[in-house]
Amino acid sequence: MRLSTFSIQNSKFLTMTTRIAKEFHWEMAHRLPYHTGGCQNVHGHSYRLWVEVEGEPDAQGMVMDYLDLKTVVEPLVKQLDHSFLCDRSDEMMMRFFHDNTLKVNYVDFPTTAENLAAYLLKEITLRLRESQNVLVKRLRVRVQETERTYAEVSQEF
Ligand SMILES: [Zn+2]
Repeated sequence: MRLSTFSIQNSKFLTMTTRIAKEFHWEMAHRLPYHTGGCQNVHGHSYRLWVEVEGEPDAQGMVMDYLDLKTVVEPLVKQLDHSFLCDRSDEMMMRFFHDNTLKVNYVDFPTTAENLAAYLLKEITLRLRESQNVLVKRLRVRVQETERTYAEVSQEF
């Protein structure tokens, strides 16, 4: 039996939209001050982030080098890791972090998974545009807060 040679050069696969993804993890504390169902308490999550980029692969068969994606996203993840994500409107926590030197990141939104996904989408978009990757046509960010829940946002380039 002989395997036929598959030539990708002349195939339709070359113009196929392709989505690649990389997963990231970090540990972070937060709270939702307005919540009454438990999330008003300081608690933490083992966050999982999926970053998906979509486009047509180049001649080498890549939409984007996974290493480049890591270079873009990892600094953001490192900044969030083992910190408290503090909504600036949360007066109680603002007072606490004024008096205590602990790792904190301040944001101007309630720290829900939805808002965190939108924030990360914006930050990753800015950095990807700076890297001038012309192949990426769509970016999707999924923030998984627990085993069973996630929030996802996406944006065209
Ligand atoms: Zn939470």
